Amino acid sequence: MTRKTGNEKGIKLNDDIIKLPKVGEATKSRLNALGIFTVHDLITYFPRDIEDRSEIKTINETCNGETVTFIGRVFQKPTMFNAGRYKITKVLVTDDTGVVELVWFNQPYMISQFKVGNSYYITGKIKQEFARREISNPIFENADLETHVMTGTVVPKYRLTSKLFLKTLKSYIKVAIKEVKEELKNDFLSDELKKEYDLCSYEYAIKNIHFPDDNDAYAASKKRLKFEEFYVIQLALSLLKNKVDTKKTGIKFDDIDISDVISSLPFELTNAQKRVVSEIKSDMTSNKVMNRLVQGDVGSGKTICALLAMIIAKRSGYQSALMAPTEILAHQHYEFFKSFADKFGFTCELLVGSIKAKDKKDIYERLSRGEIDMIIGTHALIEDGVSFNKLGLVITDEQHRFGVEQRSVLTDKGNDPDIIVMTATPIPRTLGLILYGDLDISVIDEMPKGRQKIDTLVVNSSYYDRMYSFVKDEIKNGRQCYIICPMVEDSEKESMTELASVTTYTKMLKEKYLLDESVEYIHGKMKGKEKNDIMDRFNNGEINVLVSTTVIEVGINNPNASIMIIENAERFGLSQLHQLRGRVGRGEYKSYCILISDSKTDISKKRLDTIKKTNDGFKIAEEDLKLRGPGDFFGTKQHGVPEFKIANLYEDTDLLKMAQTAVNKILKDDKLLEKEENNLIKEKAISVLEYNTL
Ligand code: ADP
Ligand code: MG
Repeated sequence: MTRKTGNEKGIKLNDDIIKLPKVGEATKSRLNALGIFTVHDLITYFPRDIEDRSEIKTINETCNGETVTFIGRVFQKPTMFNAGRYKITKVLVTDDTGVVELVWFNQPYMISQFKVGNSYYITGKIKQEFARREISNPIFENADLETHVMTGTVVPKYRLTSKLFLKTLKSYIKVAIKEVKEELKNDFLSDELKKEYDLCSYEYAIKNIHFPDDNDAYAASKKRLKFEEFYVIQLALSLLKNKVDTKKTGIKFDDIDISDVISSLPFELTNAQKRVVSEIKSDMTSNKVMNRLVQGDVGSGKTICALLAMIIAKRSGYQSALMAPTEILAHQHYEFFKSFADKFGFTCELLVGSIKAKDKKDIYERLSRGEIDMIIGTHALIEDGVSFNKLGLVITDEQHRFGVEQRSVLTDKGNDPDIIVMTATPIPRTLGLILYGDLDISVIDEMPKGRQKIDTLVVNSSYYDRMYSFVKDEIKNGRQCYIICPMVEDSEKESMTELASVTTYTKMLKEKYLLDESVEYIHGKMKGKEKNDIMDRFNNGEINVLVSTTVIEVGINNPNASIMIIENAERFGLSQLHQLRGRVGRGEYKSYCILISDSKTDISKKRLDTIKKTNDGFKIAEEDLKLRGPGDFFGTKQHGVPEFKIANLYEDTDLLKMAQTAVNKILKDDKLLEKEENNLIKEKAISVLEYNTL
């Protein structure tokens, strides 16, 4: 039989964990469940904390009630006996200063774990009566093997699952580190940098974050790994930006008058909108490439700013593209734009995945001939077949839903077009620093006049009767209601249960609470046309109550809707709740957001309370970051925030700043990291961009 060994196979960091010795299909799937796929994932599966079991006491030093670690030798044959319903196993150990009895209940197999004459590391809580010492259910390891990882050392604590024990996980990590030892020696931080910031080597850090010799080793490793994370991400983003900046000049659009469009609007622009439009205009009319983030809370009126910018492009003879994350949203933007098209003499089309191949082909052709001025769509815009005649402006709406790569694919279809990204998710300052570096930011910090404050209530499910009678009243008054369905926890079955949950919920409403109202549902797995149909019927008032999954989270605009009900509210990110709440209160009507939660934990209460008390998206985002950490910041992953494995944006601001200084320094001499000495770090930075959707 041939045993898998690293040497034969030459295991690399990027290999699948299955290549590791002792890792089979079952283990693989357990590790996968924790997000561990490659050897690199495994060795960077960092502990959350450590417990110090490194101090080894002698038995006579231990006191009653203390949790201790000592080395004990088994000096007589272990025994087992019955006491009532229990099978008790006893092992006596000594270190020549005293004796401890190790005791297990109903674990008869423990008897075979110990050999007379052998020594073990033992950790547990001492129970002492006079000279007699006892530990129930101790943790133990063979002291003769050099592989002890649980006792007699500083023991890191990990996030685990019920099927994966700490001891097992640690043994895999240990094997993995051994297998890739040589690769770990390739430290991508230069010696100079490490010296300047007092950082340990990569190899040392990886070993000591998992198997620290002591507290100091652990702390030093943590520092290095956190610094590294900040450094690499900021470097990656700066690289991306410098790449854009090196092309010095972009399009210089004409200084066009758009006051005719502005004065045709049924409302006056807010001062904030006016300011943002003029910032955009001055970027567009300059010859540098615009790279601007427009940040404005939900309902602040970003779409009109996009339209105005696109009209400037059209009137200067350029095409423009607006990319939205969902078909529903693209459709809605398209309808809005179309209503201006004839009057102001531009052509616009919708390009989404669900349109017929024949129509798509037609759009492709007209687009490449320059017959379409404005194209609005989803990811369908970045497909290969799409080409432009003269693309001058690219706008992405709800930008946090797109990755850097996707945005740049669209941009590359033009010749250095100007770029606007719009987002309603306010980015806390620390995060902004990382995500955008010195990208220009415009903020719409003012709501259109006449908006009423949305009342937010947090209730539990015992309020159903009252709540639905209120919903009925509102419907009688002509209003409409959204209900966001309970979320499902099991992500494997998500697509199935997502559907089941909206349909069952709708059925329940139709049968029990809303017998005479028109209730319909919508979810992400529906076909584009079905979704649009439902949205159209909701928008023109045919449907009173729309039951939905979070597909309606971003952008949807129906000013007549006045109630937003969110089931299992505690499971959403705060910013996401705020987004959902922003679907109501978009018109003149008093609106309500009802958060339903049966959760009694302090943290959920605190979070929902934050939503209830504040309507300011920025404050909510800060609070969310504080309460949940950046990984969960946008409610789900892949919403554009880099996921930090060990660094914490909120707590580690000093390291963040240090890393930033270091980034500026290295890029000062080597703007695109082209020098040979920077090869390793460049490779690392690029790999981060590939894996993170920033
Ligand atoms: P968001 O910033 O969330 O994308 P929208 O652009 O969808 O917001 O605008 C929300 C609603 O507010 C739309 O119905 C829009 O027509 C309206 N609106 C935009 N600007 C103003 C304004 N200055 N005064 C009144 N209503 C406005
Ligand atoms: Mg919007």
